[in-house]
Amino acid sequence: MGEASMIGLGAMGSALARALRRDGHRVTVWNRTSAKADPLVRDGAVLAPSVAFAVAASPIVIVCVSDYTVTHSLLETQEVAPALAGRVLVQLSTGTPQEARDCEVWARERGADYLDGAIQATPSQVGRPDTTIFASGADAAFRRSEPLLTSLAGNVTYLGESVGSASALDLATLSYVFGAALGFFHGARICESEGLRVDAFGAMLAAIAPVIGEMIKHQGEVIHAGVYESPQASVSTCAGGLERIVQHAREAQINAEVPTFALGLFRQAMASGHGQEEAAALIKVLVGAPNHPRHLTAAAVRVFGIQRLASRRGRCA
Ligand code: NAP
Repeated sequence: MGEASMIGLGAMGSALARALRRDGHRVTVWNRTSAKADPLVRDGAVLAPSVAFAVAASPIVIVCVSDYTVTHSLLETQEVAPALAGRVLVQLSTGTPQEARDCEVWARERGADYLDGAIQATPSQVGRPDTTIFASGADAAFRRSEPLLTSLAGNVTYLGESVGSASALDLATLSYVFGAALGFFHGARICESEGLRVDAFGAMLAAIAPVIGEMIKHQGEVIHAGVYESPQASVSTCAGGLERIVQHAREAQINAEVPTFALGLFRQAMASGHGQEEAAALIKVLVGAPNHPRHLTAAAVRVFGIQRLASRRGRCA
């Protein structure tokens, strides 16, 4: 049986605390709105009267709040920060790789080990054997917290000591999920326009998810290899499909913004000469925006980097 403190009892934090209790761990909880702890206390968790009490109560301190700014506001106080020494701080709030790096520096300065994690599930999926959590950070931090993390997800994937990896992969996955969700919502309008059931559409997509996953895996391999010839589905074939979706939106008088946006990108790729290449060649038009650091001179990048570090140094957010 392990011991953990859970800071943050929103939808996700509560599910994490429940999963820990289910596996018999000793759990101390804290939340700004303390009433959310009531069901957990009835289930044997200890309610901490303050964040400092929660941090001091356990060797593993898990934080799951809205973002890293909230994390910082809760932990960077005179009472809490010193209590972190010797503990493992596990950050399960969603953030960016830079925020993870800053938080690791901040935690180490206070004598704590730091692990950054990203939950690939909704609250109702927490604790299942097929649920995934990405983790990155110091090996020692991972080894100390792994027995508790496996209560939260059967598939805990440690990505190594580069602490930004978990949030990078999390944001990449979220990008995929949100893109797919946009497509699904437009698809739902298509179904409605022809009297088809949207719940059946969702169920059908879940059933063919492995085949779609294979298609995505193939696109990743193409990008990794940099070989876009002999396409399974060319950029121009995909553009043709998108043109039909836009045409249908006009015919059915439904909103056409999602397919029109996607079609614009595929047309850009065609205009740049990639029409007969694999669909993955679309990545060639997704280069940095004009104000992105990669377009600045080396000197400007140095200044940018220095300014950004100065504004974040020593902060967990
Ligand atoms: P949520 O239900 O909105 O809960 C937010 C939590 O943050 C609550 O505990 C809330 O406290 C706390 N909080 C917000 N502002 C605060 C402040 N100023 N001071 C103190 N506490 C504050 O959100 P959630 O779904 O649990 O998500 C929590 C984190 O998990 C997010 O980073 C989210 O991206 C990540 N996540 C969520 C899911 C999901 O499906 N829900 C999946 C993966 C990752 P109160 O209860 O007092 O408001």
